[in-house]
Amino acid sequence: MKRLLPALLSRRIDFAFLIVLISGYGSWMSVRASADDQLTAGVAKVEITDREAGPVNDPLFVKALVVKSPTNSLVLITVDAVAIGEIGRIGNDYLPTVRDQLFTDFGIPPENVMINASHCHGVVRRDVADLTVQAVRSAMESQEEVEIGFGLGSENTISENRRLHLKSGRTIDVRHAYALPPDEEVLGVGPIDPAIGIVKFSRMDGSTLSVLYHYACHPIQGVPSGGNTADLTGFASKVIEQSLGGDCVALFVQGCGGDINPRNYKQVDQPRDAETLGNKLGLSVLREVARIRCVAESRLKVINERLVLPRGDQSGKIFEMEKRQEQLLNSLRGTTLNLKTFLPLMVKYQLDPEFPSYDSYGYLREVQSEDEAYRKLDRKNSDLIDAYIQNVMTMEELTRVQTNLRLLKKHHASLVASGKRTIEVEVMGIRLGDVKMVTFPGELTVPIGLEIKELANDPATLISGYTNGYIYYAPTTEQLENAGNAQEDSDCILAPEWYPIFRSKALEILRQL
Ligand SMILES: [Zn+2]
Repeated sequence: MKRLLPALLSRRIDFAFLIVLISGYGSWMSVRASADDQLTAGVAKVEITDREAGPVNDPLFVKALVVKSPTNSLVLITVDAVAIGEIGRIGNDYLPTVRDQLFTDFGIPPENVMINASHCHGVVRRDVADLTVQAVRSAMESQEEVEIGFGLGSENTISENRRLHLKSGRTIDVRHAYALPPDEEVLGVGPIDPAIGIVKFSRMDGSTLSVLYHYACHPIQGVPSGGNTADLTGFASKVIEQSLGGDCVALFVQGCGGDINPRNYKQVDQPRDAETLGNKLGLSVLREVARIRCVAESRLKVINERLVLPRGDQSGKIFEMEKRQEQLLNSLRGTTLNLKTFLPLMVKYQLDPEFPSYDSYGYLREVQSEDEAYRKLDRKNSDLIDAYIQNVMTMEELTRVQTNLRLLKKHHASLVASGKRTIEVEVMGIRLGDVKMVTFPGELTVPIGLEIKELANDPATLISGYTNGYIYYAPTTEQLENAGNAQEDSDCILAPEWYPIFRSKALEILRQL
């Protein structure tokens, strides 16, 4: 208004400019909160690295963002840990312990507390629940009026889909637990999601209080030192915090990273370094942060529902894979070669496929004498090399079959032990300004995030796995048809029908937010 009034008074304003100005003012009015319902926020971080557990490369953190309106509150916690319960250092008592304490201390309803694990494989302190409450307490005590803005960044150079589609119709995944299939069997790779959902919280003096960024990727690249690390998202957060200065806290929320690895995950020629990838992610966040315009906000909504999902029964698949295991084992046939004789022989036959056993003149001489001794030796050795390589390939396939078979059997045993055909999970919905987020406790795969975002038709939609519990991998119905060939479809307790149930619920929650 300060600029509009003098312009009107000077009568130098033209009609089109007036329309633009009024319509802009109107949209600003629609999101501008009145002073008494404007959201407040506070943020804090507490280090949770277990320094007794071995060498430390970089610190792990629990971070808490508390957002409040006069009638509602949201506690959003991120932890540099593999999962919220079930696997790793954080036990199944962690989530209820933290929520009970927050209810006792601050009256915050448990259903308004969201805890997301980055899924880095760092080792956290055993008193992580106390440290989490400590972080929330600091965030509660430092509430101030904030303005909020959303932006969509992009980073497509640090991640790769780890599911490889083979010509056989099967899919296998890129893991350290087993070898990749031969190159000629690989047909294609799955998609990544380059989107970085970013929520910026500005103080009233314009400085940045906090940046929440949401991305899909396993932070498991590791560091050259081999020490405890928050991995690539720890480095990304550090870049963001150091660049924005002050007490700015950057919170990473893991998205649908179930089938997404850091790029060059299987590299063995140079040390794998999460810092390089993390710096790239951090810079991509900062590029967008600079463009985000924050406004006063009053929109804060939380939905928390229990969803009953069918558990999978993979006994048929287990039977099938045991048969395959036996078949592979029985197909192994000994040759005269061992590793010591095989390697130099193979190098020789690769180096000079035409005259591997001797210089070419020896073969020419052989033509004169008509004995063909070298040619016969070469045919024999080539067959031995092929047979030895076939054994190696069979053993590599066995490592894949056995690893995934163990996962199927483990989850089958837990199905039997549970005595139940269903599992109940927590699904949370959050509306914060323009942003809508839906959470799930499993490792959602990237096609799930991509599909739900497309169906929701709203760029400010964020889908987060790894939240409020842990129920292993959660792949699509189609990915589950591949059970036994990749980790995501083997390390899974859900039946294929789980996905449409979750998808409908997620879309319903997004509509309600
Ligand atoms: Zn994982």
